[in-house]
Amino acid sequence: MNKTVSVLGSTGSIGTQSLEVCEKHGFRVYGLSANNNIDLLEQQTRKFRTEYVCIYNEEKYSELKQRLSDTGVKVLCGMDGLCEIASLEQNDIVLNSVVGMVGLLPTLTAINAGKDIALANKETLVAGGEIVMSSAKEKGVTIYPVDSEHSAIFQCLQGNKREQLSKIILTASGGPFFRKTYEDLKKVTKADALKHPNWSMGNKITIDSATLMNKGLEFIEAKWLFDLEPEQIEIVVHRQSVVHSAVEYNDYSVIAQLGAPDMKIPIQYALLYPNRFECPTKRLSLTDYGSLTFEKPDYETFRCLSSAIKAIKLGGAYPCLVNSANEEAVKAFLNDEIPFIEIGEIVSSVTEKFAPARIKGYEDVVRADISAREYVRNIIEK
Ligand code: MG
Repeated sequence: MNKTVSVLGSTGSIGTQSLEVCEKHGFRVYGLSANNNIDLLEQQTRKFRTEYVCIYNEEKYSELKQRLSDTGVKVLCGMDGLCEIASLEQNDIVLNSVVGMVGLLPTLTAINAGKDIALANKETLVAGGEIVMSSAKEKGVTIYPVDSEHSAIFQCLQGNKREQLSKIILTASGGPFFRKTYEDLKKVTKADALKHPNWSMGNKITIDSATLMNKGLEFIEAKWLFDLEPEQIEIVVHRQSVVHSAVEYNDYSVIAQLGAPDMKIPIQYALLYPNRFECPTKRLSLTDYGSLTFEKPDYETFRCLSSAIKAIKLGGAYPCLVNSANEEAVKAFLNDEIPFIEIGEIVSSVTEKFAPARIKGYEDVVRADISAREYVRNIIEK
C-alpha cells in the first residue's frame, strides 16, 4: 500500500495506534501534529521522517523548532499549522484524532482541499455535522469513520442497499458506573472516573465514557455520518464491547460487526478501505467470553446521554452548545473544580437555558461554542 497520510493528534491514544498501523503497512507519514507533547512528537517526527510537524500549543513552538533544527522538517504551530497540514497537496488521506472542537476547522480545511478523512474526532460532527457533511458532499470527499461503533456500522452497510436500512443499533460499554444510581454518582472520585473497564483511552473520552456523554456524542455522529433520523438509532448497553454495533434492514435481518476491543481494527479499516489485511492485534475468541449481554441504558441517571439526544432532536446550535458545555465541564472536573455529578447537571441545563439558533456556517459554530463555554465558566465561578 502506497498511501500518504497525515495524522493530526498523533501523540494521543488513537494517534499512536494510527502510526502503528501506518508503520505496519508501510504508509508514508507526511505530517504530524500534537497539542502539547513535544517529546513524543519529536520522536515520531524523526522515526517517520515527516516533512511537516505542528505543535498546537504555540508556547512550545520555539523549543520544538530548536530540537528539530537538524532535520529539515517544516515546523508549524497553532490552528494555522493544523490547517496547513490538513490540506497538504501530498496527503491521500488525513487522519484527524484531535481532541475536542479544535478538530472542526482542520476537518473543514481538509475537505475544502479535497482530501479524504479518517475521522476519529467526533466533536467535528457533533458541533458542525451539517456543514461538514454538506461540504464533503460538494467536494466529493469521503469521511471514513474511525470510532469503533461507526466503523462497525460502516462495515455492516457494505454490499447492502442504504435505502433498505431501517435502523442502527449503537452499542455502549456502559462505562465504569453502569448500574450505579444517581446517589452513587455523587460519591464518584476522579480516579474512579478515569478507570474504563474495556478500552484504554485519553482522559477526555474516558470521562465522557463514564458520564455516557460519549454515547450521546456518538449518537449525533451516527446521525450525520449515516444520514439517519434520531428515531432510527437505538442504544444498547453491551458490557463486553465485542459487538461494536449492528444495523437492521427492512426485512428485520440484523448484521453486526464483532472483534476484540482494539482501536487498531477500525483505524486500519478507515485507512485501508476497502481492503483488509492482518491487523497488529489479537484475534477474537468468542468462547473466551462465553456469553454476551445486552441491556437498556439508564437515561435518567446518565443525564449527559439524554441531553445529547435531546439536543440533536432539537437541532440547530443545540448539539454544538451541549458539546462545548461538556468539554468545559469535563475540563473543570479534571481540574478538581466540580464534582463528577455536576457534569451531567451542567450539560442537561443547556437545552433549557439557550434559545434556539441556527448553524449556517463555521462562524455560527464558533459563536455557539464561546457562549456555551462562558455559560459553564459562570456556573463554576459561582
Ligand atoms: Mg466509540
